[in-house]
Amino acid sequence: MALGMSNKIKKSNYDQVEIINIPVNPYIPLISIYLYYIDGMLIDTGPSKRRKRLGPLFRSREVERVAITHYHEDHSGMASWIGQHMNVEIFAHEKTIPIARETAKVPWYQELYTGRRLPFTPKAYPNVIETSKYRFYPIETPGHTMDHTCLFEPHHGWLFTGDLYITPYPKVFLQEESMDAYIETLHKLNRFDYRTVFCAHEGVIRNGKEMMNRKREYLERTREQVVHMHRMGWKDETIMKKLFPDKVKLEQRSFGTFSRLNMIRSCIRGQ
Ligand SMILES: [Zn+2]
Repeated sequence: MALGMSNKIKKSNYDQVEIINIPVNPYIPLISIYLYYIDGMLIDTGPSKRRKRLGPLFRSREVERVAITHYHEDHSGMASWIGQHMNVEIFAHEKTIPIARETAKVPWYQELYTGRRLPFTPKAYPNVIETSKYRFYPIETPGHTMDHTCLFEPHHGWLFTGDLYITPYPKVFLQEESMDAYIETLHKLNRFDYRTVFCAHEGVIRNGKEMMNRKREYLERTREQVVHMHRMGWKDETIMKKLFPDKVKLEQRSFGTFSRLNMIRSCIRGQ
């Protein structure tokens, strides 16, 4: 999550993948999102707040299908617009479908930041998505959310990871994030022969598999420490102060939607 960026769209390429990078909010450019466009397929849509910039950009590409990594507004917010204005297939995890049917109920500060996610009607992911040049395999990857899906392209060793990666050393979680699911997912992904990670907030990570395993090791270590302290009778707040004594920027900026306590409690929940 780069700081102090301008509010413009940045476009670049990695191999045949077009990288579209845009700050989530035009006035508060703190967090940016990376969308990927390859061979007629758009991976994630960006937030509805950026409709004026993203709409014309999508129209100028020959988008045939859209793959949504998970339901969060910054990833799926433009799906409703795309469904109304473009003749494309929108794919999502089957667990995303009932969530996508409703207008998102989000806290006011989040709506101010990302805009609204209006209803859209995705189709459930097939086993494989074939474009003219590539085969993308959707892989269920719960952790960040329960509907989270990565897309794997085996021939090039590409993995489009939505919000699964972001950082190898997170200190804060959303309430819905699951430590156990993250660790299980990161183990599972080791079975796939990928190298390059395409992260929705950090861009292209060339040594992606190595970094994903760094994250897995860190999460396993953290869970072990938390569970140990919990079994010794420590309170959640005490564990938090011991492991993460410093305030985290994202915690303050998100009004506690992301918090250290959420992460501690997620370690204990599975016990
Ligand atoms: Zn997310």
